[in-house]
Formats: sequence, structure tokens, C-alpha cells
Amino acid sequence: MEQTKFILSEKEIPTKWYNVQPDLPEPLPPLLHPGTKEPTILPPPLFPASLNEQEFSKERYIEIPEEIQQIYRLWRPTGLYRALRLEKALGTPAKIFYKYEGSSPAGSHKLNTAVPQAYYAKKAGAKRLATETGAGQWGSALAMGCNFMGLECKVYMVKVSYFQKPYRRVLMEVFGAKVVPSPSQDTQIGRKILAEDPDSSGSLGIAISEAVEDAFGRDDTFYSLGSVLNHVLMHQTVIGMETMKQLEMAGAYPDIIVGCIGGGSNFAGMFLPFVPDKLKGKKIQIIAVEPEACPTVTKGPYAWDYGDVAGMAPIAKMYTLGHSFVPPPVHAGGLRYHGMAPIVSLCQKLGIIETRAVAQTAVFKSAVQFARSEGIVPAPEPSHAIKVVIDEALKCKESGQKKTIVLALSGHGHFDLGAYDEYLSGKLADYPYPEQKIKEALAKLPEVKR
Ligand SMILES: *Cc1c(COP(=O)(O)O)cnc(C)c1O
Repeated sequence: MEQTKFILSEKEIPTKWYNVQPDLPEPLPPLLHPGTKEPTILPPPLFPASLNEQEFSKERYIEIPEEIQQIYRLWRPTGLYRALRLEKALGTPAKIFYKYEGSSPAGSHKLNTAVPQAYYAKKAGAKRLATETGAGQWGSALAMGCNFMGLECKVYMVKVSYFQKPYRRVLMEVFGAKVVPSPSQDTQIGRKILAEDPDSSGSLGIAISEAVEDAFGRDDTFYSLGSVLNHVLMHQTVIGMETMKQLEMAGAYPDIIVGCIGGGSNFAGMFLPFVPDKLKGKKIQIIAVEPEACPTVTKGPYAWDYGDVAGMAPIAKMYTLGHSFVPPPVHAGGLRYHGMAPIVSLCQKLGIIETRAVAQTAVFKSAVQFARSEGIVPAPEPSHAIKVVIDEALKCKESGQKKTIVLALSGHGHFDLGAYDEYLSGKLADYPYPEQKIKEALAKLPEVKR
């Protein structure tokens, strides 16, 4: 019988995070201050100095503090699985592996960075963290991280998800967090947006602005971001490092790596540890997948833009649809962000990765096929990647190629059953590519002379 699970022992959890920065063929462009447009660090009132150090570090490896390693042990290492039943259902000669982050107690990869972020905030003397959440995965993860570290947690939850996914809110509250729908009445920017559009469905960009305003206004509070930033991507590299060891156990090496991108953190966590191999000449195709309704990398320019709607966050060089773009309310809430991680953006520009966009009805069809084969109901976000894995496996069937495909399965969909219900009852629709709205938002990019 073929082996299905590739399981590491607790002792094999990585003890260091991998920082890709020294290995990138080109240095990352700097972050720019939103006012002066000069190079800047992450705003010190918002982030502890330790995370700023990690953000710009040129050290290849950064030690994971023991207290964090101990908490990682609650769910790490996560399993790498061979999707034998899916392979069979597809009739493909390809080998499909998936690295499953849904076994974390928060149900996604996000706890990998939530725990260190809460840890470093506490070390720096904070009492409280403020953050935004899209589909609720990040909020649940940070609520848990704060709970472990004895910090308070305030979560601004994108309004459309707040109502689509009430159990996510309850989960955050179980871990002691305070959750409000965003745009909210608790901040100036929230009140302003509600005054202009009382029915605003919210967006990650708006929620970020609210959380940033909250943390700026209080001495005891840091801000925490669940994706995009360099240090967040670095915390996620435990995923790829474990996967490398597990593939070795399986006697396999990836021809193709596939992951979904919202801000880019789970995908980066998977592929970044493979970048040195690829730069040394290994032929790995690394494919990012995004929604057609929010096609940041496939349709947006590589340009300077604000990280948030209000223009308070630093300006980064990234693929973007414009900071004022509010994506249609697709069910993959975690993929509704106007920009993309600068590291992922640079890798795309340099041709280290490629990106595809897919529509949500096709995504849910693939998700259901995956569930019926493997027994895991995937979150809508990684289901975007599953769609492309299936496409690639079917190409192998046509060509007879026995490729090894590795899927970053970033989380489970137990809180997304409403979306599955819509799909199964034929009510799920695709949103047309919002060309006009993107054009309008791109006209509002900041002017940067560099
Ligand atoms: C948040 C989330 C994503 C998208 O965020 P990234 O930073 O791009 O990883 C993807 N999958 C799941 C399960 C998520 O919770």
C-alpha cells in the first residue's frame, strides 16, 4: 500500500524561521512614509522594535524563541498528505501532496504568526493588540495568540464576513477578544465611511485603517497584521521547511507548488524555503492563485501604493488594484485585499513565481471534489489553489507526465458552510471582473518619484 501521511515528530519542528531577503536576486524596494514619501520603518507606535528588526533583517535564519516553540507544539508539525484518492478520481499519473494547516486550533496557518506577534508585543510591554480580520481567520488566530500571552484583543471584522460568518465572531469571543463589524462607529475613519455609505460591505483595507487608528490612539496598544509584511511571511516559513523534510521522507521533490494569495503569507510560507533551490537551477513551477473578482497580480500594475484605504499605512512597491478598490463580496474573504506582499510581488516581477486568476463557482466545484476524495472540507481561499492543482493534474493525464504537485492547504472550511450551501443549492454566482472600479482606483495611486 502507498503511504498517505508524512508525519514529523515534535522534535523536528523548525527552531528557526527562514528569511528570504539575503537570498533575493534584487533587494526589496524600501517602505515609504505615507506623508514624506521617504524610506521608513514600520511606524514605531504600531509595532514593537523586535518586529521592525525582523522586517528589515538580512539574516538568513532567525531563532524562534522557546516560548513560541512550546506553543507551536500544540499543533506543529502539521501533516503532509498524499492525495491518493483525488489522484485516482482524476485518473492522473501526477503525485499530489498537500500540506494541511487546517489542523491548527484556529483552523488555518495564521496562528503561525499570531503567536509570535502576541509574544513580541507582550515582551515590548503592550497590554492590548488591535487588528482587522476578513473572513475571520486572522481574528480567531490573533484572539488565540493574545489569550496565550495574556493580552487584550480588539478585532475590526469586515462587515460582510461579520454577518456571513457569525461563528467566527463567537470563536474570537471565546478567546476573550472584542469584535465589531467594520466600518464601525468606534473610529473616525469608520464613522466617515458609514456617513458616505451606510451600507458599505467593508473591505480589508477599511478594517486595517480602523485598527491602525485604534492603535495610534493608545499607548498600551500595538497593531497586528495577519499577512503582507515581511516578518509575517517569515513566521510562515515553518510550513515550507517542514514540507521539505516531509517530501524527503516521501522520496519526492516538487515540480509544481500551488497556493492561494490574499496578502501572500501562506503561499510565501510554503514556497520561500524553495527559492534558493530554484535560483540554483531546480525546475520548480511556483503558481499563485487569486480570485478573478480581486485580480491583484494578474491585472494590477507593479506600483507604489498605500497598504490601507485611508492612506495612513506606509507605501509599498507591490502589485495593487489601488488602495481605494473595494472588491466584490466573494466568499474567500481572506483573498479580498487590494495589494500583495512586497516579497511575493518582487518574486512575481522576477519570474520566480507565476499567478493565475480563477472564478468562485469553478473554485467551489473543485473544493467539493477535493472534500469527497480526501475528507477535508477546504476553506474557500485554498480552494482557489485546489482548482489549479486539479487543472495541472488533468494536464498530466493528457500528457502522461508524472509530475509531483504540492498544494498549500491553508485552512479548513468549517466556518464557510454557508458558502458551500449556496454552491450546492445552485445560488452561487461569479462576479464579473470589476474593470471600471479598478480603473478608478488605479487613478488614485500616490505619486512617487523614484
Ligand atoms: C487569510 C487566509 C488566506 C489568505 O491570506 P494569505 O496571507 O494570502 O495566506 C488564505 N487561506 C486561509 C485559510 C486564510 O485564513
